[in-house]
Amino acid sequence: MKKLILLSIATGFLLTACHHKNLPSSELTKDPDKSFTDWKENVFMDSMWYTSPDAASVQGYHKYDAQLNVPDSANAKRVLAFADYVEGQLKSFGYDQLSDLSKTDYKLIENYVVSTRFYQNEFKEYEWNPAAYNVGDAIDYVINNNPAPLEEKLKNLTSRLSKVPAYYEAAEHNIHKPTKEHTSLAIAQGDGLLSFFDSVFPDSLKASKLTDQEKEAFNKSAAEAKKAILGYTKWLKELQKGFTKDNTRSFAIGKELYAKKFSSDIQCGISSDEMYKKAVARKDAIHQEMIQLTQQLWPVYLKDIAMPKDTLVAIRSMIDHLSAKHCHRDSFMATIVKQMPELVQFINDKKLITLDPTKPLRVRKTPEYMAGVAGASINNPGPYDKNGNTYYNVTPLTAYTPEKAESYLREYNDYVLQILNIHEAIPGHYVQLIYANKSPSIVKAIFGNGAMIEGWACYVERMMIEAGYHKSPEMQLFYDKWNLREACNFLLDYNLQVNGWTEDQVMDLLVKQGFQQSAEAHEKYKRATLSQVQLASYFSGQTEIFELRDEMKKKLGDKFDLKAFQEQFLSYGSAPVKEIRTLMLK
Ligand code: ZN
Ligand code: ZN
Repeated sequence: MKKLILLSIATGFLLTACHHKNLPSSELTKDPDKSFTDWKENVFMDSMWYTSPDAASVQGYHKYDAQLNVPDSANAKRVLAFADYVEGQLKSFGYDQLSDLSKTDYKLIENYVVSTRFYQNEFKEYEWNPAAYNVGDAIDYVINNNPAPLEEKLKNLTSRLSKVPAYYEAAEHNIHKPTKEHTSLAIAQGDGLLSFFDSVFPDSLKASKLTDQEKEAFNKSAAEAKKAILGYTKWLKELQKGFTKDNTRSFAIGKELYAKKFSSDIQCGISSDEMYKKAVARKDAIHQEMIQLTQQLWPVYLKDIAMPKDTLVAIRSMIDHLSAKHCHRDSFMATIVKQMPELVQFINDKKLITLDPTKPLRVRKTPEYMAGVAGASINNPGPYDKNGNTYYNVTPLTAYTPEKAESYLREYNDYVLQILNIHEAIPGHYVQLIYANKSPSIVKAIFGNGAMIEGWACYVERMMIEAGYHKSPEMQLFYDKWNLREACNFLLDYNLQVNGWTEDQVMDLLVKQGFQQSAEAHEKYKRATLSQVQLASYFSGQTEIFELRDEMKKKLGDKFDLKAFQEQFLSYGSAPVKEIRTLMLK
């Protein structure tokens, strides 16, 4: 599931003048909840998009497609002024007077304020991440995702592209001691942008009914934008040639910034340090369980071979042996389709959660334009696309070489494919989305909490296993491997960003202790040098949900009902678990 982290660098500071209206205070007293709802939907959201026009385009809000903010210091001041304004408005509404649904939106907007200040004043990614400056999405979503007539889109682009030179000029001014990793990434991305100028634009112009004058204006803007992009890439390459220890910085953000980013992005009830300790403990507990399962399974499958003394090696041998049980490459999609009704049946029989029979999940072949996305994932419509369908996209393995298909199928073997379907589809992401849509909130559609969303999908994996879905020691072993990956994602992120871990240490964790393939582990390492905290969301989210479930069990005793707990939990939408907790325990 593609999750938007709106407050990341790409949008966090690209803000311009706020054009907010203040509500007359007399309106506030009448119905606080209605006043708040009106403000958040009609004033806050639109003003926020006005301050981030490129992020707005990406989310399908095309009102500001002609704009592009130049990330200079005046812009930064306007961002912070907008945050101040939002904070003032929130205070005037007051949390206590609002309904539960508004309360969670209130908290998400409050976090927007805190995050905006943190990213601008402390995190300062605009200084060290050259890849933060990228107009690719700003161009792509205007030309390819707006249902407007082509001529209108090209006129919007003429205007947006005319601001690109100033945009990169500001970028060069801002960058100070970049990281090597983000510089390389920015150079690679710059080359990728040129396809717009070489093929997309000429084709679109040809197909359009623009006047010659309009075409000329477009070509002029485009030529200057292209020159600016090439200039920026060239400037970065020069910078790169002169890199030393003193004029670059480490990609690792360190303990203090990590703690703050964790608090801002995850909106977790506990600190990153505390969560880290839980992840270490979880890894050890999973290893213990996997050792026992391996001892149990070894005589069944490998009795003629002596079990290795090194328990990690023994577990890996067991996993390797069982991974051979997988579907044929030609029936990958059919196998997934077949599992959907089985999941529904099991959930209904065990009364785990109410499913909506009017919204069966549509499994489809991943469309061509999304090619490159491997495997299977949920594809939901954008927040402004109300009539869009949700699909379970599955990429058939037809394009794979026999070796690659075999390796993929071993990874997504008969056991793991079940867990993947639980996570992505039923009762994971797809079901969470249906519940969230019952009480639609544009604030949650945009700022929905990633740790809650991923946490839920991870939570239900274990919940289904506990309920006995495909119960067997083999299934438990592969669930443990999968769950271990979620814990290891956090461990590697934290250790790399905070504890100065090297690539070798990461590989040891993922491959030797996590039983992953080294190619997969290497990709994960690279991803972890470029982002921070996102990899912590899977473990943090599920841990908070399991702890909340324990608290509810304690509170309700005999009256605790798993189905009621799960449905109430989902009824708040994609809010941070700690905010749901406050409302559920009150
Ligand atoms: Zn095979
Ligand atoms: Zn997920």
